[in-house]
Amino acid sequence: MTSPRVLRGRLLDLTADPAVAGRDALRYVEDGILVMDGGRITARGPADEILPTLGDTPIEDHTGKLILPGFLDLHIHFPQSRVIAAFGTQLMDWLERYTFPEESRLADPDIARAMASFFLDELLANGTTTALVYGTVHASATDAFFAESAARNTRMIAGKSMMDRNAPDFLRDTAKASYDEAKGLIGRWHGAGRQMYVVTPRFAITSTDEQLEACAALTHEHEGVFLQTHLSENDREIAFVRELYPWAKNYADVYRHFGLMGPRALFGHSIHLDDSEVAMLAESGSAAVFCPTSNTFLGSGLFDRDRLAKGGVKIGLATDVGGGTSYSMLETAGEAYKVLQLRRQTLRPLDAFHMMTRGNAEVLGLAHLIGTLEIGSEADVVVLDARATPAMAHRMTAAAGDLEQELFVLMIMGDDRSVAATYVAGERVVRPR
Ligand SMILES: [Zn+2]
Repeated sequence: MTSPRVLRGRLLDLTADPAVAGRDALRYVEDGILVMDGGRITARGPADEILPTLGDTPIEDHTGKLILPGFLDLHIHFPQSRVIAAFGTQLMDWLERYTFPEESRLADPDIARAMASFFLDELLANGTTTALVYGTVHASATDAFFAESAARNTRMIAGKSMMDRNAPDFLRDTAKASYDEAKGLIGRWHGAGRQMYVVTPRFAITSTDEQLEACAALTHEHEGVFLQTHLSENDREIAFVRELYPWAKNYADVYRHFGLMGPRALFGHSIHLDDSEVAMLAESGSAAVFCPTSNTFLGSGLFDRDRLAKGGVKIGLATDVGGGTSYSMLETAGEAYKVLQLRRQTLRPLDAFHMMTRGNAEVLGLAHLIGTLEIGSEADVVVLDARATPAMAHRMTAAAGDLEQELFVLMIMGDDRSVAATYVAGERVVRPR
């Protein structure tokens, strides 16, 4: 028997896409109670209704603060926590100069475990409770990541990177070895507790035809695994793909040809797409993942959200650390707003908070488990304080009672300092010092 955990505060989640349902998508209780037990949300509602049913169960008081579902980050690299803020390059040079040498260190499982541990603690400190995670080419490093995630009981989706060409020898696998290693990892971790697997060819450039075929086989042979890779991020990358696959209509056509598109496939960046590529993503039910801090940091380009949305493409939001510059989904939403400003598009606060929670969960097909504060959902929760810093508190004096302004302040000025608490499967996370 576990004992219930009871939170009091301002409950906020989204029950639909506000782009469709408008403000009706917002579910908000000013003085609310959230009850969590056995890893799930078991009750929720106004304090005056729920409190009398609770007897003398102790209450964790977050009055005045917002209680939301934990954030989801749909594209991030756990081995790159020391590559973040690496000066002066764009994608291809950045990989060669900074990223590949650093990723090679994770051949040592002790280093991998320490990296995974730091990374997961950092995500949780930022209120991110689920992420779609790239590992290195080393299967043992992805084992280490899953072991650390399992120890924290976080719902993480991770995979070993597959690269059998155009990468340094010390980071290269083969089509056969990568298939066998991924299969082993799926057997050990996919569906073990809260862990899930994502088949992870780094991108078309670093895989042979045989390896891309092996990726398709893995997704067909194992129920419920995801697929993630990079698509159309940078001009030099796109030109190289054209050289390597002269028969392909375009970059996306390579992935389509090898059977890698589908409702569980997520394509990071998807910036420079032609109309037929947009149609391929939409028709296959694949998702494009918007990584704003990475796209501006590496000078890759400006994601065209409206064009993809109009074309019927599912869109996720992500940090892409270490090309991305922040672990915070709040800061990421703020930077997404700025990128879209440059495109003469907009990101309303409700849409941003939907993307970070239920929207990203919908992209994964996991909104029945995570991304809302629905009764029965897994109890991953973040508590936010829009007055966390003096500048925020000062700004908030001009926003009293206006919830959408408060959310906007959080996404423009907020970061890990705005995260008052994080709960994973109903347990409060305590950050190791
Ligand atoms: Zn990436």
